[in-house]
Amino acid sequence: MNVEVITTDDLRCHRCLGALYLRVKLPHPRWAAQVVGEMEVTYSRFVTLCPVCDAHSPAAQGLLAFFAIYSQVTSETAEAFGQLVRHWIGEVGCPEPDPEALDREIQQWRDGEFHG
Ligand SMILES: [Zn+2]
Repeated sequence: MNVEVITTDDLRCHRCLGALYLRVKLPHPRWAAQVVGEMEVTYSRFVTLCPVCDAHSPAAQGLLAFFAIYSQVTSETAEAFGQLVRHWIGEVGCPEPDPEALDREIQQWRDGEFHG
């Protein structure tokens, strides 16, 4: 899997608008690359690590601890960082929908509880 890890100072959280620790670009788990005309079109999704919004996420604890100790990734910490990113991606990279929650939301929509 080809993964792009982005860590710059100006990344903003789409949830709280605070500063992100990192953003990772992943291949979309369900949309395979396609050839359209002469171009190959690939689909991606982004996952983000926010120190505020992900503070209670069990999957994020390793990376949050890493950034609490180290302000940046160096050659000495790169291997540990990579392992933590792989673990985190494995947990958050491809969430499966909860079929019971989906059925519940469909029923709420049918009952008129969703507006807009
Ligand atoms: Zn946030």
